[in-house]
Amino acid sequence: MHTCRNLHHSEKEHIAYFSMEMGISHTIPTYSGGLGVLAGDLLKSYADMKIPVVGITLLNEKGYFYQKIDSEGNQKELPVEWNTNETLSLMPNEVFVGIEGRKVKVRAWKLMVRGYTGNTIPVFFLDTNLAENSDDDKKLTSFLYGGDRKYRLAQEIILGIGGLRMLESLGYTNIKKYHMNEGHAALLTIELLKKSEISGMRADHFIETIREKCVFTTHTPVAAGHDKFDVALFRKMLGDFLIPDQIMEKITQDNTVNMTLLGLTMSKYLNGVAKRHGEITREMFPEFRIDSITNGIHPQTWVSPYFKEIFDEYIPGWALDPFTLRYALSIPTEKIWDAHTNSKKELIDSINNRTNIGFHISRFTVGYARRFTGYKRPELILHDIEKLISIAEKVGDVQIIFAGKAHMQDYNGKEIIKKIFQTCSEVNKKETKLRMVFLENYDMKLARMLVAGCDIWLNTPQKPFEASGTSGMKAALNGVPQFSTLDGWWVEGHIEGITGWSIGTHPHGSDSESSGDFAKDAKSMYEKLENNIIPLFYSNPEKWKEIMRHCIAINASFFNTYRMAQQYIANAYLY
Ligand SMILES: *Cc1c(COP(=O)(O)O)cnc(C)c1O
Repeated sequence: MHTCRNLHHSEKEHIAYFSMEMGISHTIPTYSGGLGVLAGDLLKSYADMKIPVVGITLLNEKGYFYQKIDSEGNQKELPVEWNTNETLSLMPNEVFVGIEGRKVKVRAWKLMVRGYTGNTIPVFFLDTNLAENSDDDKKLTSFLYGGDRKYRLAQEIILGIGGLRMLESLGYTNIKKYHMNEGHAALLTIELLKKSEISGMRADHFIETIREKCVFTTHTPVAAGHDKFDVALFRKMLGDFLIPDQIMEKITQDNTVNMTLLGLTMSKYLNGVAKRHGEITREMFPEFRIDSITNGIHPQTWVSPYFKEIFDEYIPGWALDPFTLRYALSIPTEKIWDAHTNSKKELIDSINNRTNIGFHISRFTVGYARRFTGYKRPELILHDIEKLISIAEKVGDVQIIFAGKAHMQDYNGKEIIKKIFQTCSEVNKKETKLRMVFLENYDMKLARMLVAGCDIWLNTPQKPFEASGTSGMKAALNGVPQFSTLDGWWVEGHIEGITGWSIGTHPHGSDSESSGDFAKDAKSMYEKLENNIIPLFYSNPEKWKEIMRHCIAINASFFNTYRMAQQYIANAYLY
């Protein structure tokens, strides 16, 4: 085993940030969506703030997948071709992990993640594609969220246990906190335990010492979303890497090991990713003390060039101190409208170019882009398509843009894509004032154009299943109001008619039993589109521009990764 110990690293205290995916740029397609983009955005802010953080993730050499939609609307998943060598640099360090009794060799690629200032943070991408490994083991770091439960557990062994060993081999021996972004890396806590055992402390003692060092962020209010493994599979895969009985008892339910419970049990600071999500998580796990830190976005990554220009002019220094975006109130509304029009033009041109759909810049444009899965209800706006057409005929032209991938094993999600795709072509064949398009292969590049170029950002999750959501924050930064069910971050960011609009009832309201009712939420959505939103857009541009300005001043100034980073530092890392 090579050990390139670097004295500089070992002297300095670091925060180690573990995430199964890191969405840093569309050119490094090792992410699937929200979880990864959040990790990337947060690390960029840490880089700007010169916080000593080191990131650990998997290489995901074949990416998540490249999405193609065939003429019937079926999603095809193609491996993503990208050149690791050109983007990342290979480290000489190698470590081993035990998987099902085999010794699997792990190496790492380094990327220096750059914030706005040019300061960087290293992220190490773990890779098992080494000649010494068996053909199957070589592929363990190929596909993000691919394969079966066994494949997933192997990946988690590599991320948690391999990641910790790699950090040590790289010379990061003075780690102040281990921050786990979701349960995928939770096995690192057991590796920490093993290391303490060697140093001869008493069991309950060292569990407490490890909890002091661990920070756990959960993202999943959907029970099925929690990472669970059959006990027998778990024991077989981990082999002689034994987990003490007192911990196994706490994390095993109905013969399955729950990685969220492992993270919760072994960490002292625990949090959900929005205030509402914190409440839901405390209901799910009442025996734990769970805080919340609401997600954010890295403004420099998500601002359109046109808004950047006016922010630079009116609020110098905003990018590193986005709290100052509150002063957007002093930007003339005409400037905001011009920046929006330019962003919108770029989007509409690109869509017409790709699809020949004939979208028009002056028409009211709705954007909907996210992972396609049941609880997010992408098809809500199409619930009563005749109603939608009649609204467009009555109050003004409507263009709708959809984009998003369904997980390859989410057959329901794929059906929703197909249904939307087919509805788009049926509607577009008719001569109506409604036009719709589904864009292939949603990624960070497309997201950047969509969040800035639409007039309104739609989100329709079924309460309470949206942990946070961040694309609406990206839209707000570009002056685009959100129209969403009151779930995730929107419970905090929504002021009716000021920063956007709500769909359905408030989660704390008296008639919350109606939440999640598809038909009722659709009705609420159609009513607001018809009576408030579209008429305002076409008939009261001054009021509309005011709303755009409020999105920036009230929401972009708060829902960013600088505020989020400061909360993690104050509440979790210094805790
Ligand atoms: C921001 C982003 C997401 C997450 O947004 P949600 O609002 O949580 O859906 C997902 N995918 C991409 C490509 C993104 O840029």
